[in-house]
Amino acid sequence: YFISFEGPDGSGKSTVLKQVVAQIGPRLKTQYLVTREPGGSKIAEKIRQLILDPVNEEMSAKTEALLYAASRSQHMFETVIPALKAGKVVFSDRFVDSSLVYQGAGRDLGIAAVKQINDFATSKIEPDLTIFLDVKPQVGLDRIAKERAGQEDRLEQEKLIFHQKVYWGYQEVNQAYPKRIVVVNANKPLNLVVEDCVKIIANRLPA
Ligand code: C5P
Repeated sequence: YFISFEGPDGSGKSTVLKQVVAQIGPRLKTQYLVTREPGGSKIAEKIRQLILDPVNEEMSAKTEALLYAASRSQHMFETVIPALKAGKVVFSDRFVDSSLVYQGAGRDLGIAAVKQINDFATSKIEPDLTIFLDVKPQVGLDRIAKERAGQEDRLEQEKLIFHQKVYWGYQEVNQAYPKRIVVVNANKPLNLVVEDCVKIIANRLPA
């Protein structure tokens, strides 16, 4: 069973995922794997470093989208597919939807075009369930500013307009896949967000 976590920057995605797995993991009858994108395998992590290196600010949107897809392809075939085949529950911090919205909407490549290269990269394997942590762009940005105060970060790239495009991209993607994607209100305190996610996953996991 394949579960992805999605959300804009500042949605608390990685923290929520950690706490959700801490609660659900011990209750599972099968083994589980927690992984992340971009990354999740040796080669995929190397591609991640290349993409997220601030030196590459001049990277074209298409190059970025192709590198994310390449990283994802490696991550799928090396990590995710073998785990699913072994009957494990896989939790992934981001998946294809992130590319659809960051490169497709945020960087203006178009959601359909980015979907096409990712269908090729993943052989169309999709999560069974996607948790979308819904936080308004301004709230997300305020959280990042607080958490990362004084640190060098990507705020320059992560301006509000980009975030708004990403946010609206997520709305479009959420509407396109209403069965797979469940929207969770992430403006609430962390423990309540975690509680909502745990309930949703527990209801959906096959018995
Ligand atoms: O998941 P996390 O927030 O750690 O992602 C790291 C960064 O990669 C984020 O700043 C996000 O904006 C960016 N990202 C992206 N396109 C993707 C996936 C992540 O721009 N497809």
